[in-house]
Amino acid sequence: MPTCSWIREKDSDAFYAALESVPSPGGERAPSWQCPFCAAIFPKAESFRLHLEGTHTGRRPFVTFGGAEPKSTDVIRQRIDSKSVAIFDTTRAYLSRDHSTFSEIALSKVAGELARNSDGRLWIRLKNQFDANADPIHTEYDLSFRVYDDDAKLKRVDLAFVKTLGKDGVTMDDVDAFIRQTEDIAVPEYSAAMADYVIGVLVKDGDPATGIRAATRDYGSRYEGALTVLREFARPLPRLLCSLIRFSRNDFALGHMAATGFGLLDSANAQLSPLAHKGGRWTATKPTPASDEKKMTVCPVDNGSAAVLWRAGQLAATARWSRDLEAQLHAEADVPNLDPEDRQKFFALWAATAHRLGKKESAIYPLRNLAGSYCFGQWADMLLEEIDR
Ligand SMILES: [Zn+2]
Repeated sequence: MPTCSWIREKDSDAFYAALESVPSPGGERAPSWQCPFCAAIFPKAESFRLHLEGTHTGRRPFVTFGGAEPKSTDVIRQRIDSKSVAIFDTTRAYLSRDHSTFSEIALSKVAGELARNSDGRLWIRLKNQFDANADPIHTEYDLSFRVYDDDAKLKRVDLAFVKTLGKDGVTMDDVDAFIRQTEDIAVPEYSAAMADYVIGVLVKDGDPATGIRAATRDYGSRYEGALTVLREFARPLPRLLCSLIRFSRNDFALGHMAATGFGLLDSANAQLSPLAHKGGRWTATKPTPASDEKKMTVCPVDNGSAAVLWRAGQLAATARWSRDLEAQLHAEADVPNLDPEDRQKFFALWAATAHRLGKKESAIYPLRNLAGSYCFGQWADMLLEEIDR
């Protein structure tokens, strides 16, 4: 049995009266919005929204060094130039050396404080109190300073590197000797990165006689680790090591293409970088062959890269295609255990040279091998299409 609500009989008039809508004597009250921050009143939702966005919306505070914002956790390896520091959308700034006590610093003093650091760790907290009544917006940076701008020390490491590691037949014992020699120079990250380059070479070559563990084939992480540090140093030796690492990894981005003074490398880069760019087109300009400059051995080069470099130099100077040459290229590209990225460079040089010398049919095999590859794939697809026509 359903239950029903009940009313007292004498209330029934009032009850029924309430069911009829009775217009209020003052007329319909228009809806309105009151701003929670400044109590201003808005008749329309749209004008209220515009007021909130225009008056009470804060932006994230941030800092830039030389036009780039650091990551929230970053390593600073180049001394910060106080003139290159810019702070945006910030009302207050705080610094800490231990991440527990922060002390406020005038915004005008932040740049000078950053420029003073060469080691240690610094936390910066920026606050944007964009509205007195709203929660402020914070940005925090955790910066580790490892600035080595003592040229004399870096030069000592460079010299030790060339003396101990700039030779054929380098082994892990030589790497250990280099680390020992540079221990007291106190630029550990720099020398460790250089050692990482050489360990990367030995791992990539994979010869257990050099003292590497035969199981490790991951030279990529050594190369990447070395690159992360060495690219921050505007010195000839780290620049050369970075170029060799990028060459090995098929990284031909134009942004960091620069002459290294190592003729074979510069010539090979000049041949390969136009092929690696998206939508780039191989123009049949003859690359300048490596000059016979006075050579000095400064660093080991992994066998795969060395073979590609040598072949690139040969092909740049080749004016005539021959069956012998094609057979040699076939043999080189088909070497078992050749690093896949080195194989791609062989194929690209082969195809580009055959195409330059008008031997289109000789370019087809290497181009088909490159089709779909991330580095030279687009160029290969384009050239295959051109040859098909
Ligand atoms: Zn308001």
